[in-house]
Amino acid sequence: MNFNFTEEQILIQQAARDYAQRELIKDVLQRDASSEFPAHHVKALAELGFMGIMTDPVYDGAGMDTISYVLAMEELSKVDASVSVIVSVNNSLVCYGIEAFGSNMQKEKYLRPLARGEIIGAFLLSEPEAGSDATMQRTTAEDKGDYYLLNGTKNWITNGNSAGVYLVIAQSHPEKKHKGINVLIVERNSQGISVGPHEDKMGMRSSDTHSVMFTDVKVPKENRIGDDGFGFRFAMQTLEGGRIGIAAQALGIASGAYERALQYSKERKTFGTEIANHQAIAFKLADMATNIEAARFFCLKAAWLKDQGQPYGTASAMAKLFAADTAMWVTTEAVQIHGGYGYVREYHVERLMREAKLTQIYEGTSEIQKIIISREILK
Ligand SMILES: Cc1cc2nc3c(=O)[nH]c(=O)nc-3n(C[C@H](O)[C@H](O)[C@H](O)COP(=O)(O)OP(=O)(O)OC[C@H]3O[C@@H](n4cnc5c(N)ncnc54)[C@H](O)[C@@H]3O)c2cc1C
Repeated sequence: MNFNFTEEQILIQQAARDYAQRELIKDVLQRDASSEFPAHHVKALAELGFMGIMTDPVYDGAGMDTISYVLAMEELSKVDASVSVIVSVNNSLVCYGIEAFGSNMQKEKYLRPLARGEIIGAFLLSEPEAGSDATMQRTTAEDKGDYYLLNGTKNWITNGNSAGVYLVIAQSHPEKKHKGINVLIVERNSQGISVGPHEDKMGMRSSDTHSVMFTDVKVPKENRIGDDGFGFRFAMQTLEGGRIGIAAQALGIASGAYERALQYSKERKTFGTEIANHQAIAFKLADMATNIEAARFFCLKAAWLKDQGQPYGTASAMAKLFAADTAMWVTTEAVQIHGGYGYVREYHVERLMREAKLTQIYEGTSEIQKIIISREILK
C-alpha cells in the first residue's frame, strides 16, 4: 500500500484549493441568496481543465486519474457545492459515459467540447414517477428507422437549462422492461424541447435544476449510445462512478464545515476560555476529524479501484453512503459549535448543512446505497 499522492495529484489538489479559496469564496453567499448560475466560474474552471479532468487528452481532456478527481472535488466542495455538482455531472456522468461507451463519432462531436468545457452536459434519468426505481421510465424513444422520436418528462435535472448536450434515458421496448431502455445524446437546441422553471431549492441553490420536457423530438439513430437496450445498464454503470464524485463532494462539504468549526472554536471564548478548551467541544472536533478521515479513505479506495480497472460499484456505494451521512452529521455539529452565529448566513456553516442534505438524496438515496451494498454482501 502507498498512501502518498503523486506530484500531479498534489498539483491538481492545490489548483482546486487555490481557485476555491480565492475565487469561489468571493460570491458564494450572494449566489446562494440569488440562485444565480455560476457561469463565470464554470468558464474559469474549464480553462483550468476541471470540466474534463479524467477525459483522455486525445479528446481534449486533462487525462488525470480518479484520485485527482476526488481531491479536486473535495477542495471545490469545501467552498461551494453548487459549483462542484456542475463539475461532477459533467465529468463523471456525461464525459465518462460518452468516453467509456460512445462511438468514435460521438466522442469527436460531443466529448471534445464537453471535456474542454465549451458546453456542459446533463444526465436525464429521473422522472416524476421514476426516482429510486429508475426502471419505471415513462419517457419513450420510439424507433422510426433512422431516428428516434422522443416524448416525455424528466425531473430534477442538474444543468437542465444550461447544458448544451443531454444524455437522455428512455424506453424503446416497454415489453422488454428495463432491457428495452436506451440512452440517447440529445442536443439542447433540438426542436420540441422545453425546460421548466428553476427549482427553488433548500441548498446548492445556484446549481441549475429543472424539469425537461420532450415533445416529438427527433434524435438521429447514430446518437444512441451502445446497442439497442443498453440504456439501463449504461445508467447504472455510469452512476457507479458518479457516486465517487458525490461522495467526494460530501467529503468536501464536511471538511469545509469542520475547518470553519475548528477555527471558530479557537477564537470564541465562554467562561473565560476558548470553547475548544471545553472537552465537550474538543471531543466533537475529534469525532468530526475521525469521521472525515474515514470518509476520505472510502472515497480514495473507490477511486483507486476504478483507476486499477477493478470492480468499484460496492466501494462507491459505501463511499457515498458514509460520506453523505458524515457530511450531514458534521455540518450539523459545525452549526452547534458556532452557537447562534452558526444559524446565520454570514458564517457559511448553515449553508454547508443545507448542501450536505442533498448528498443523501441524489445519485441514489442513502437507502438505495444500502440496497446496493446489502445485495453484494448477501449474494
Ligand atoms: C437537486 C437535485 C438534483 C438532481 N439532479 C439529478 C440529475 O441531474 N439527473 C437525474 O436523473 N436525477 C437527478 N436528481 C434526482 C434524484 O436522483 C432523485 O431525487 C433520487 O434518486 C430519489 O428519487 P425520488 O426523489 O423520486 O425519491 P423516491 O424514489 O420516491 O424515494 C422517496 C423515499 O423512499 C425511499 N425509498 C425508495 N425506495 C426504497 C426502497 N426500495 N427501500 C427503502 N427505501 C426506499 C428513498 O430512499 C426516499 O427516502 C436530482 C435531485 C435533486 C433533489
